[in-house]
Amino acid sequence: MAKDLDVIVIGGGVAGLTAAAYLSRAGMRVGIFEQQHKLGGLAGAFSRRDFLFEQALQWVVGCQPGGTIYTCREELGLTLSFKQLDPWCRQIGPGFDVLLSSHVREWVGELCRLFPKEAGAIQQLTTDAIKLFRRIPDTPRKPNEMLTKWEKFKIGLLTVLNMKLYRKYLGISIQDLLVQEFKEPQVRTFFYSLCPIGSASAMLLLTTIGWIKEAISITQWAGAKPSSTVSGR
Ligand SMILES: Cc1cc2nc3c(=O)[nH]c(=O)nc-3n(C[C@H](O)[C@H](O)[C@H](O)COP(=O)(O)OP(=O)(O)OC[C@H]3O[C@@H](n4cnc5c(N)ncnc54)[C@H](O)[C@@H]3O)c2cc1C
Repeated sequence: MAKDLDVIVIGGGVAGLTAAAYLSRAGMRVGIFEQQHKLGGLAGAFSRRDFLFEQALQWVVGCQPGGTIYTCREELGLTLSFKQLDPWCRQIGPGFDVLLSSHVREWVGELCRLFPKEAGAIQQLTTDAIKLFRRIPDTPRKPNEMLTKWEKFKIGLLTVLNMKLYRKYLGISIQDLLVQEFKEPQVRTFFYSLCPIGSASAMLLLTTIGWIKEAISITQWAGAKPSSTVSGR
């Protein structure tokens, strides 16, 4: 069977399935070899009694026109539809119960009210995040050598404008940043729960706050059955 194929993709997660779909669209005979009994990899779900649990995905980035997922859908002719949630999530933890929406001022205000001693640091972190996110250049959709002079100039300019913030946040992990910036463990827990990968760069946490503000990624798979959608907590 394998000898009839042009390409074999090992692993049927989102990456493998997407690659296989594009290769197939380009006229290749593609086989996907998946070790599990079902496709999807981490982007899957399982049920226990009446409940359906998402294994990993909570939100999906890039479903707006021009975004990566949107573009894949258009190019591959998929019948997926998306639904934007705003507010998209309720964060409940020790000392806080906060609804997250693109109205950042509202939830930041609520956090500052709950933790007045940390208000300055909370405001600083979220303001930096939004500033940085607005100026992060879009990922180019073509190789460097194919970029026009104007595109290169724009990327360079945005990078220079962000330099101060890159210097502040690039070399530090989320865990270390939260310990450095906040004294109250509850505030650390709140921000950690937005991006619970302690060893990742603080940039990831800031980008997550930026996504929440722009509400471009707070997206539910509207094409899925209600019980299998990614719902706000
Ligand atoms: C807890 C958690 C939360 C997350 N939340 C989000 C989120 O909210 N939003 C978001 O966009 N992303 C999120 N992610 C990331 C996202 O789930 C992954 O980036 C994405 O699903 C990875 O897809 P993939 O195809 O690269 O890998 P995988 O999904 O890991 O797929 C790899 C596949 O290859 C198969 N495989 C591996 N080795 C072999 C082999 N030798 N032979 C055959 N098959 C093999 C595996 O069984 C698997 O099916 C989260 C991840 C985690 C862990």
